[in-house]
Amino acid sequence: MQEILEAIRSGASGEEIANLPVPSSYRAAVVHKEETTMFEGLASNEKDPRKSLHVEGVATPELAPDEAYVAVMASSINFNTVWTSIFEPVSTFVFLERLGNESRWGKRHDLPYHVVGSDAAGVVLRVGSAVRNWKPGDRVTVHCNFVDDQDPSAHDDSMLAANQRIWGFESNFGGLADLAVVKANQLMPKPAHLSWEEAAVNALCNSTSYRMLVSSNGASMKQGDVVFIWGATGGIGGYAVQYVLNGGGIPVGVVSGPEKAKLLNQMGCEHVIDRKERAYRFWRDDGTQDEREWRRLGKDVRSLVGEDPHIVFEHPGRQTMGASVFICARGGTVVTCAATSGYMIEYDNRHLWMKLKSIKSSHFANYKEAWEANRLLAKGMIQPILSRTFALEDVGEAASQVHQNRHEGKIGVLCLAPEEGLGIDDPELREKVGEDRITLFRRA
Ligand code: NAP
Repeated sequence: MQEILEAIRSGASGEEIANLPVPSSYRAAVVHKEETTMFEGLASNEKDPRKSLHVEGVATPELAPDEAYVAVMASSINFNTVWTSIFEPVSTFVFLERLGNESRWGKRHDLPYHVVGSDAAGVVLRVGSAVRNWKPGDRVTVHCNFVDDQDPSAHDDSMLAANQRIWGFESNFGGLADLAVVKANQLMPKPAHLSWEEAAVNALCNSTSYRMLVSSNGASMKQGDVVFIWGATGGIGGYAVQYVLNGGGIPVGVVSGPEKAKLLNQMGCEHVIDRKERAYRFWRDDGTQDEREWRRLGKDVRSLVGEDPHIVFEHPGRQTMGASVFICARGGTVVTCAATSGYMIEYDNRHLWMKLKSIKSSHFANYKEAWEANRLLAKGMIQPILSRTFALEDVGEAASQVHQNRHEGKIGVLCLAPEEGLGIDDPELREKVGEDRITLFRRA
């Protein structure tokens, strides 16, 4: 891979890159099938990604006609890498086995190791014979919607495809590696004003927040909507705040701690709730919920903005869903994409039906939505929320930080890129957008 890295750094042409040999093996972050029971009996927060994530050499798989090899300069940690590395709620080898039964090309994924990672920025090395729009040398980012384009159910909203998967989570050969295997319809142009690591952290979370708030497949936010955002400086929350501000909405951001509250203010989010300081206890010790605590949160929102939220951006799940349904305005929408604190949800249905509220489910984004989210990033209208980078060797520590909620925004991982700050092709646009805005989370 060294030769490939040198070619990329020296600005080699697409033809030169196409002529470089693709190595027969590459460095990757993996979990091992034989270790899926290693954390049995431990609580979730005791399961340690540093023990289960290994960085080692793996064989380069054969390339299918609709795929590309990407030399990965940088990648990022997403919460799904945490799930894979703690083998919760199920081992992801179950997904790989299922994919392995589908086709000859699917069979490649069913291995005793899983190369994880659902984000990447890098350079196309080779394309399969059926790829038309991309070529070696193209600088790209990768989104993680992995669909079979010969499946008819994939041709309305591809997130409704019967066999829709998340690349690097429900498929193998993901982005936390020096090389990745991706379908051509996962590729998007790399925003030219961003460094490799700044470009690598967005696709999964940025696209998810775009669909949840902006897309007609999500909450279809309007000007003036009050949007209540849990985890507002976290991975998806940090983009959600930007979409609300860009779209003329009024964000109410929830965070834990004064540092994060300050960061939210710096993003332009005026209305902030520090959940640590407010010490909400939505669940009593006896396992029932306390409506008085929901009411206290609702009052806190009203005291900030004078009304109830039209949209609640929900993902913590069990801990917060009862409160989210309660505080949502009459006729409003709770849009949910996750359940970090537990997926068996409880809310008071009277508050939902009597006030004609809706719960809207959302999951990642289709190609068009991911493309639009990437376009806004490339225009400098959405900023990367990279707070810190780790070397690929330290991927376990990086995942552990996200698992333990010791991070802000997104954590980047340098794969082939030997240092930060490389890959900026449009310094003029960078200057126009403003270094301060692009690197806000780095300085937090
Ligand atoms: P993240 O970077 O860890 O941020 C989540 C934030 O939520 C945390 O920083 C924390 O912020 C807040 N939070 C955590 N537990 C909470 C609780 N019990 N009550 C209230 N707030 C809590 O993670 P992320 O990348 O934003 O992802 C969030 C969730 O969405 C994960 O479960 C992830 O798997 C899921 N997700 C789903 C999709 C999809 O396509 N379906 C896509 C992306 C992410 P504070 O401590 O500051 O409040």
